[in-house]
Amino acid sequence: MSRDLNSKFWNEELETMPREELEKRQLEDLKEIVKFAYENAPYYKRSFDEAGVKPEDIKTLKDIQKFPFIDKKTQRDTQGKGSFLGELCAVPEEDVVFISTSSGSTGVPTMSPFTKKDFDEFQDTESRWFWQIGMRPKDRYVHALNFSLYVGGPDVIGAQNLGALCIWGGTLPSERLLFVLKTYQPTIIWTSPSYAWQLGEKALKSGIDPKKDLNIKKIIVAGELGGSIDATRKAIEDLWGAEVYDFYGLSDIFGACAAMCEAKDGLHIAENHILVETVDIHTGEVLEPGQVGELVFTTLRKHARPLIRFRTGDIGWIDNTPCSCGRTHGRIHISGRKDDMFIVSAVNVFPSDIEAVIRDMSGITGEYLIRVFEKDYTCKYSVEIEKKSDNQKSDDEIAKETADALKARIGVKPYSVVVHPDGGLDTRSEHKSRRIIDERKLDYVI
Ligand SMILES: [Zn+2]
Repeated sequence: MSRDLNSKFWNEELETMPREELEKRQLEDLKEIVKFAYENAPYYKRSFDEAGVKPEDIKTLKDIQKFPFIDKKTQRDTQGKGSFLGELCAVPEEDVVFISTSSGSTGVPTMSPFTKKDFDEFQDTESRWFWQIGMRPKDRYVHALNFSLYVGGPDVIGAQNLGALCIWGGTLPSERLLFVLKTYQPTIIWTSPSYAWQLGEKALKSGIDPKKDLNIKKIIVAGELGGSIDATRKAIEDLWGAEVYDFYGLSDIFGACAAMCEAKDGLHIAENHILVETVDIHTGEVLEPGQVGELVFTTLRKHARPLIRFRTGDIGWIDNTPCSCGRTHGRIHISGRKDDMFIVSAVNVFPSDIEAVIRDMSGITGEYLIRVFEKDYTCKYSVEIEKKSDNQKSDDEIAKETADALKARIGVKPYSVVVHPDGGLDTRSEHKSRRIIDERKLDYVI
């Protein structure tokens, strides 16, 4: 297949399809997948019958709103029931060629099965995102993501199918990864935002200047929010002298749900695969595009395990307005995980908002730890930061500046700001950092 290397699109017809046509195509696929799920997955048969809905009720895209939600708990409850793959699975096991699983960090790991066609379409979507950020066959690409069961691991095949030279890095120790970057001079790497930051710092400390000694032009980040936080993205870009693009995948669906384009204003979602809704986190009421709520996804083409109205637990909003890049697929903007959100004085606080403030301040390293706790039966938060070794200000001054900046951005002051010396916080874990400690004992329902 000859492909125009100068075209900015992997699949121009699909990516720039007028929305009317895109939605027509979504409706056809929605009708088919809801029928397929009802006829083949025992859970959907039961739940649609109980809710009094039928596949034939889908006449417009909005008719999906009549159907019941599912969530992570539905996956856990139905996993292993009836068959190895569980009651949400709609194909026999012999049609399944791959499963990934979630990390299980918030409960029992859940698995995501793929048929051969599901898997190939997953990788074609990944090629599309790689092409979108400018990857071309001449690029050398290091896939520095976990391969063990993780749905982001196989995304490397999307880069290979595109024609790039791929190095399957996995979660190499940083010394080894830096050796690879220095010796093979790759141009693109994918890792987590916190690890991109740590790796750049480690390079500098070991006498390697990422801007001069390495050839990385683009960094893809995923797995944490940082790539969508402007201050964090810019800090990584300055450290590496490279462009940073945020990608978004879900272990429940596939590793290629959405990705930034050159406009870096939200992430285009593959609307030919996913029908997006946003709903009120308390009531489940469907919200309009632009309103912030929980993202709910319906998979339109994944046959091994269709997800009909899956509550993702991610909070964000969808933007269907035209993007300057020319792509017509909508963009999602993600604020954070519902599980990580906490409420202080009736204000919804996301760790990503705190990170944006911390990363935007000078004189501190950008490392942080958030503690959420109760005092007098109300929720409070405190923030721990590190001051740079050349910062002449007193700890009290830095704490006050930080508290004021947090109040200005978020609307509620932290209970306290603790200032540590450079390197004093134990948050520099490799690949994925945990920066929130929830010490609350009361049950909070959000
Ligand atoms: Zn765009």
